[in-house]
Amino acid sequence: MVEVRLEKITKKFGDFTAVNELTLTIKDGEFLVLLGPSGCGKTTTLRMISGLETPTSGKIWFGDRDVTYLPPKDRNISMVFQSYAVWPHMTVYDNIAFPLKIKKYPKEEIDKRVKWAAELLQIEELLDRYPAQLSGGQRQRVAVARAIVVEPDVLLMDEPLSNLDAKLRVMMRAEIKKLQEKLKVTTIYVTHDQVEAMTMGDRIAVMNKGQLLQVGPPVEVYSKPNSIFVATFIGAPEMNLMDVTVKETDKGIALEGEGFEILLPEDLGEFLKDYVNKTVVFGIRPEHMTVEGISEVLHVKRKAKIKGTVDFVEALGTDTIIHAKVGGKIIKIKIPGHVPIELGRPVDIIIDLDNIHVFDKSTEKAII
Ligand code: ATP
Repeated sequence: MVEVRLEKITKKFGDFTAVNELTLTIKDGEFLVLLGPSGCGKTTTLRMISGLETPTSGKIWFGDRDVTYLPPKDRNISMVFQSYAVWPHMTVYDNIAFPLKIKKYPKEEIDKRVKWAAELLQIEELLDRYPAQLSGGQRQRVAVARAIVVEPDVLLMDEPLSNLDAKLRVMMRAEIKKLQEKLKVTTIYVTHDQVEAMTMGDRIAVMNKGQLLQVGPPVEVYSKPNSIFVATFIGAPEMNLMDVTVKETDKGIALEGEGFEILLPEDLGEFLKDYVNKTVVFGIRPEHMTVEGISEVLHVKRKAKIKGTVDFVEALGTDTIIHAKVGGKIIKIKIPGHVPIELGRPVDIIIDLDNIHVFDKSTEKAII
């Protein structure tokens, strides 16, 4: 186990900056998820940590060891990729044993470790089979067993579940998480799937365009996103965003949008004193609203009410997503369970004021 420290690492490919001055510490034994859209620099970051890629500038530390220019074999890391990369001509046993053979472990030690890893991944019954005789999920278990068999200081995973079907992915998510908790190996896990990030990470590091935007525990990143990008990348359906004008009224600060006005409690209004008469971006997640008379499950202390009409309804079984027209805009409201509601009906929408977000229109950074 080891702490991994990235100190202002930058990677350029010609003129293109794939990773830009990224600074991040992954704690000893932590499960950190690197999350971001395709092309944001996640894989490049992981490859620099593994040694497959060298930073253009910056430093990488494993504990007090500067590993920036060390080849992968001297870092005591293991990697699991999206493509399972198990060798087709070797049995499961030989696949798992391979990294130990390279390291010239004695035969008995190899046998002991292969059986230990196979038991942890529940593939003891498959040790004599060849990869062609395995399902995708089983092959990925072999790849994970082979990664942990050497007891690496750092485990690196690059979208390891994206080739699996949806059901298997959910199952493997939980298994990899439990396995990591058991082994306590420092793990860096790359994904573009926000649900995977939320359910697996001790902390999530959100990246976009080579930059690290926010890092924190999943609940913090969800409830206190520091920018519009993070706010909309996490959560489904995504956060509703509307341009509003900050107004000073005789009752306090209010947000005036197309077809609605929301009076803010004094403590929230305070944050917007410098924005009076300016346009800001108001954000509210679908799950932080409800429709009066339809659902009372939202336990809100402080609320605002706005008017809309039902434009469309998505009945998902577990939830109902109501698309309501407010002014000229559509707002999505997520209500638990099945709620029958007719189209065109006028509704009072309740907003939970303790879960609202306000962003600066030009910097896109969070104000509230
Ligand atoms: P994905 O989820 O699609 O794998 P990612 O976030 O992992 O995306 P990277 O693979 O790190 O993204 O790539 C970041 C950017 O750097 C991309 O625009 C990519 O085209 C570019 N890039 C990566 N490797 C190279 C390379 N060897 N030469 C030139 N450009 C590269």
